Formats: sequence, structure tokens, C-alpha cells
Amino acid sequence: MWGMRGFKSVLRNGGRSRRGPTGIYNRRMTQAIERPPSEQAGEAQAYGNFIGGEWRPAQSGRTFESRNPADGDDLIGHFAASDAADVAAAVRAAEDALPAWRSMPAPKRGEIMYHFGALLGENKERLARAMTREMGKVIAEARGDVQEGVDIAYLMAGEGRRLFGDTTPSELPSKWAMSVREPIGIAGIITPWNFPVAIPCWKMTAALICGNTVVLKPASDTPHCAALLVELMAEAGFPPGVVNLVTGSGADVGMPLVDSPDVDVISFTGSSDTGRELAGRAARRLKRLSLELGGKNAIAVMADADLDLAVDGIVWSAFGTTGQRCTACSRLVVDENVADELVGRLADRAAGLRLGSGLEVETDVGPLINASAVEKVGGYVEVGTDEGARLLSGGSRAEGDGLARGNFFQPTILDGVKPMDRVAQEEIFGPVLSVIRVSGYEEAATVVNQTRYGLSSSIYTRDTNTAFRAMRDFRTGIVYVNAGTIGAETHLPFGGMKQTGNGHREAGHAALDTFTEWKSIYVDYSGRLQRAQIDNQ
Ligand code: NDP
Repeated sequence: MWGMRGFKSVLRNGGRSRRGPTGIYNRRMTQAIERPPSEQAGEAQAYGNFIGGEWRPAQSGRTFESRNPADGDDLIGHFAASDAADVAAAVRAAEDALPAWRSMPAPKRGEIMYHFGALLGENKERLARAMTREMGKVIAEARGDVQEGVDIAYLMAGEGRRLFGDTTPSELPSKWAMSVREPIGIAGIITPWNFPVAIPCWKMTAALICGNTVVLKPASDTPHCAALLVELMAEAGFPPGVVNLVTGSGADVGMPLVDSPDVDVISFTGSSDTGRELAGRAARRLKRLSLELGGKNAIAVMADADLDLAVDGIVWSAFGTTGQRCTACSRLVVDENVADELVGRLADRAAGLRLGSGLEVETDVGPLINASAVEKVGGYVEVGTDEGARLLSGGSRAEGDGLARGNFFQPTILDGVKPMDRVAQEEIFGPVLSVIRVSGYEEAATVVNQTRYGLSSSIYTRDTNTAFRAMRDFRTGIVYVNAGTIGAETHLPFGGMKQTGNGHREAGHAALDTFTEWKSIYVDYSGRLQRAQIDNQ
């Protein structure tokens, strides 16, 4: 397995100039790919880009591998290791398709979107299993990930009959005033691996219903999920060129997409470091950019909380998806009066969680995405204990019971963490919970907000006044009361305050703002010159 370790992360970083090319690029794909990927024979299939309605290999012929993080011997397939030439071809296809797509009535675009939602629902189990195999989350959560795609497809299909603007009185007589939404043009969509169906769906369905065409660049850890998704979109009836897929590294595909003068808007979800880099590039081109970045989400547990409920919510939020959710709870801010009892119960629960392949129904926690994630998470445990935290459970790689070929890490709890310790401030993106003890609500609220991130937060309390104070005080885009930090629904805005993003929101009708321009229209039917601000006195 460890000959393979780091392949995914090597690709993610390897395309960047500081590491140079790697052996992963040495395979050549010389045959054009004519059939959809899922119909091809053979165990480790070759998957191309989807450009202008055709599956095509990378122009360079290079490929990269995707492997199962629960079992590095399981090769999922070979994928196009694309570069700027492939991006240019996809952007051209998106450009060619744009005039017809943007002038199709939005309700008609919505009909295709409904069809896509239905197809996704019919293929839920197939996609969920492919997702678990490729990125490791347990099968029930993978089904939930696909269901999010279905939900957002239906929501956005409905937007085809809304896309509301405003009609408003004019300050002048016999004059009509209204605002309408218009598509921006070509949307570049860059997505992470942790929600490989839901996140591309959130972004693409919003972009498409508004009349934009898209080029999707998925994470290099989950190209298979992206290929299956795009295949279904083609089947649903999105015309050729409306949805394009280009796989490959952030440096070779993501950057050219951001830099392309013909791509009008970039929607990105990923790490803060990458987001910051994209922000600089997009700003130089005065390009619209929506960023959904990291989180350091806290659950506050007050002395009057229902501890049974809190334990369930914390375990689910901290260790679900192996802690690899942007909304995962990584800080527990607990009143000192109930801290010992709560932490003791959490440690028991964490120790009892079963690690394994997410395809086995009894598994609670799947693998981390790749070998470098295991190293990173292990490194943070060391940082935490060096800073004075007490290791209550877990703390290292899990290798027993058939886990050795995967990237497994034990669910970990660090107690006695101080609010400004690195493990309380930096995104670990793994199954590590830092416990911070506080005295009462005021201190809890201060600690919850004492981070540069602002995605999700939660409070457990039986006191209505305390709950409402938290709703007011917690500086996060999402606040939960008596529930964990994860579980957003698609019809509400999703996104974070502070350095979790740059002010945009996904999902709900708020998502439409990223992908539309406002146009204000005035119709003067008075038959004479009427001057605004002058003739209305
Ligand atoms: P990365 O930032 O490493 O990668 C995200 C995407 O960006 C990938 O497709 C990646 O490609 C691409 N990319 C990397 N470098 C560049 C570049 N220089 N130019 C353009 N594109 C680039 O994040 P992860 O995939 O590791 O995802 C985990 C992160 O995502 C966490 O920080 C998590 O908090 C955040 N996240 C945020 C969410 C939110 O809504 N706020 C939701 C889910 C995740 P490649 O894979 O080839 O490197």
C-alpha cells in the first residue's frame, strides 16, 4: 500500500512548480474515449474529459490514478491529467454552447434540471458506492451526499420558474421600473473531494439554471465521482458544451481556468490557502469569485444541557465523515460544571467507534482521504500534546483488523486545550476534537468566536434565553441549537463569515447571486422627456 501512499496528495501538490513532475503522469492514453466511462469494460478503466458532449483523453495523453483510501491496492481508474490546452478546449465548447443555453427559457432549463435530479435519485446507490470506494466516507453518508445533489437539483429546477427580480414604483409618472437577473457567462467550478457529488451539484445547478455554461474541475482525489456525475448530466439532456469536465491537478487545470479571460465567474470550495491564491489571481482580472473555505467549528455545551443529546451530536459532528467536513466540530467548548462527565462519556463513545471500509454497514468511521492527511492529523496531535493538552482517546494511525492498507486514524480527543492553542485555531480536517473548558455562557461565546473562521457553530442548552443569545452572538454563517454543527439543508443559504469565505453563499436562492448579473430596466411610457431627480420635484 505504501508504495501508493501519497499518490493523490502527490498529484495535488506535484503539479505545483515547487515539487515538479512525478511518475504519476507517465502513462499515456492514446485512444480517443468514445463511450461514457461507466460502460467501458475492464477493472481499472480509462476516463477522459467531457468536452463539447464528447469524452476525450487529455491532449498530452497523460493520465493519473485514483485509488481507494480504505485499500490502496484497489485501483479505481486512470483519469485524464489535463493541462491548459484541455482547459482552453473546454472553455471554447462552453462558449459555443452559451448563446443557445442562455436564450432557452429558464423553465425549459428547469425541465432538464428536473430530469437530472430524477436520474441522480435513480442512480443514488451506484453513485454512493462509487463515492465510498473513492473517498472513503461511510455508505450512509455517501447516500446523503448524493441526496443533497438530488435536493439541490430539484430546488434549482424550481428556480427556473422563479429567478425573481423586483418590480418597483418609479419616482416619475407613467414609468415602469424593474430589475432582472442575467447569466454572467462561463462559470469555472473548482471543487474539493469531501463532498464529491453534493458540492459540484450545488455549484453547477445554480450556475446552469441561471443560463451560464460550466467547466468543472473536480478534486484529483475524486475524478471518478465527477465522471459519473457528468455522465448523468449528459443523459439528462444538457446540450453538448453546456457542462464540461476537465480533470487534472490544481496547478495544471485549476489555475488556467481561473486565469482564462473567457471564464467570467469562478466558484471554489477548498482550503483557505488555495482560496487566498485564487483570490489574488481573480482580483487581477476583476473576475467574480465565490470562495467557500475552511472552518474551525465549535459546539458549546452549557451546564443545563441535555448531555445525552449533546454526546450524540458531538460524536456525529466530530467523527462523522472522519472529521473531514468543512462544518465538522473540532472544538468542544464546555462549561466546567459538566465537563468531566461529558468528556468521560465522549471518550467512551470515541473508543467504541468501529473503523473500516465505509462499504461495510457496521463501520462508523472510514479512512482519511490520503496518506499525507494521516501524517498531518498525527502531526497535529503531537502539536496539541506539546502545547499541554491531555490525550483522552485515539491519537495515532489505526492499523489493526485489516486497516493497514488504508489511511485510518483513531478518533481522537484532546482535553485541556486553551483557546489560542494551534489545535484550537488551525483546521486539522480529521477526527480530532479539542476540548476547551469555560465558566458560563459569556466565556463560551467569546471562545466560540475566537477564531478566524466562521462557518458553523452550535449550542446545547435547555434555557431559551441562552439559546437566543447564542443565535445573536455566534459569528458564524450557520448556528444550530441543540443539534451538532453538521447537516445543512439545501434550501437555506450555506457559507461562512470571516475567513471562511468572501461573503458569497451557496444553496438556497442566495446562490443565484453568484451566477447572475443584475440588470435594471426602466420603461417610460409617458411620451415625453422625464428627468429622474429633476422632474419629480
Ligand atoms: P484544496 O484547496 O487543496 O483543493 C480544492 C480544489 O482546488 C481541488 O480541486 C484542487 O485540485 C484545486 N486546487 C488546488 N490548488 C489550486 C490552484 N492553485 N489553483 C486552482 N485550483 C487549485 O482543498 P481540499 O480538496 O483539500 O478540500 C478540503 C478543504 O475544503 C478544507 O479546508 C475544507 O474546510 C474546505 N471545504 C470547505 C467547504 C465550505 O463550504 N466552506 C465545504 C467543503 C470543504 P487538486 O485536487 O488537483 O489539488
